[in-house]
Amino acid sequence: MRRRDSVGLLALLLKAPDTLAATSQASIVAVRVWPAQDYTRVTLESDRPLLARHFLVESPHRLVIDIEGLDLSPGLRELIGKVRPDDPYIAGVRVGQNTPTVVRIVLDLRQPVAPQIFTLTPVAAYRHRLVFDLYPQSQPDPLLALVQDREKAPAAPTSPAHRAEAAASAVNDALGELIQKIERPPAPPASAPLPAPLPPVAAASKPVPAPFPAPAAEPRIDSLIIIALDPGHGGEDPGAIGPSGLREKDVVLAVAHKLRERLTANPNIRVLMTRDADFFVPLQERVRKARRVQADLFVSIHADAFITPQARGASVFVLSDGAATSAAARWMADRENAADMVGGVNVGAATKDANVLRALLDMSTTAQIKDSLKLGGEVLSQIGKVGKLHKARVEQAGFAVLKAPDIPSILVETAFISNPDEEKKLRDPDYQDQLVDALASGIAKYFGKNPPMARRRSTTL
Ligand SMILES: [Zn+2]
Repeated sequence: MRRRDSVGLLALLLKAPDTLAATSQASIVAVRVWPAQDYTRVTLESDRPLLARHFLVESPHRLVIDIEGLDLSPGLRELIGKVRPDDPYIAGVRVGQNTPTVVRIVLDLRQPVAPQIFTLTPVAAYRHRLVFDLYPQSQPDPLLALVQDREKAPAAPTSPAHRAEAAASAVNDALGELIQKIERPPAPPASAPLPAPLPPVAAASKPVPAPFPAPAAEPRIDSLIIIALDPGHGGEDPGAIGPSGLREKDVVLAVAHKLRERLTANPNIRVLMTRDADFFVPLQERVRKARRVQADLFVSIHADAFITPQARGASVFVLSDGAATSAAARWMADRENAADMVGGVNVGAATKDANVLRALLDMSTTAQIKDSLKLGGEVLSQIGKVGKLHKARVEQAGFAVLKAPDIPSILVETAFISNPDEEKKLRDPDYQDQLVDALASGIAKYFGKNPPMARRRSTTL
């Protein structure tokens, strides 16, 4: 490597007229890798836009990316050390100067991928970004994955009438059990303090033996309550950052993991996490994930900043079909809706889907908003018992992530991370447990008054 560098330097010195062009080369500002089961993202951040071509090679699977106008710098080489051994998609990285003006990156793949490669213009703290998103070529059925998450579904009755009846009673049992648990909350488990790395928390409940095994091909999915938990931000988008450095994306993931554990102690409840690790999920994708499993409700969890550090207290928001209920609510919605710009969305690939989804979202949302207000009211009154409220009523604004037309959806701002006292509380595992209790109680109380219908869900089995 040293030899090649010195040859490069020599070439630069000999070709004096080119030095001007050479100084206009882009420089790498940072390289980042965000591995996740959904997809792995590689980001090259540079001081100028980068131009890239790519192609796939088989046996073994590789993705080759050629970047114009870039030198092989130590900053770029850092990429090699940033690939984690447990990355689901990338086995290794090689970088080399392919021609005097082209750097070649070779990603050795663990499985065939459908790559998306795109650029992002400077936004927030970021300069120019070149992004490679590595998606699997075929994605698993999310509902099936959720059902198989824990093999403890009760056995399936045979006739459709029996099935509907069994589904309804299973939902009632689940509710009863959930409500009972909420009234006698278990002792909170000891937790690691933030900001330690946050591995996904496995469902920790004890398996309940089924009377006889359910046929594998017929999971009891229509008797399940499915709750979508949506930890805000992630990956390239840290969300708000507290005065001592606590990141919103980390604290909301920790709270969501705890809430999942709490809710899935009930065998008839499944929780879909729109993200269960530190990677970015576009807002519409969060909605789509919840709809794909026909979730019974959607809870987005945040801990945002405000202009003044004095702002404090929790808030609960639902969608509005017109103007926001306050200037602050509109401000918060604008702020949350900007997540896609910071997180980085491949606009080219998203446009077609976005149009389809927009047509869907134009459907009447009146009923959804009515149910969301009920859910929001229950959650707000429970949170009010463990901490201060920013506003004593549920607020409404045009949050993109709350737009599933058929799923009651709320966005909970658990606290203002910009307030030093609240940042400290958010970091405290005991306070996180109290928040989780409040969220679970609010959800249980909502279901107690508004039982979900037994759904006709089906996987692509
Ligand atoms: Zn947020």
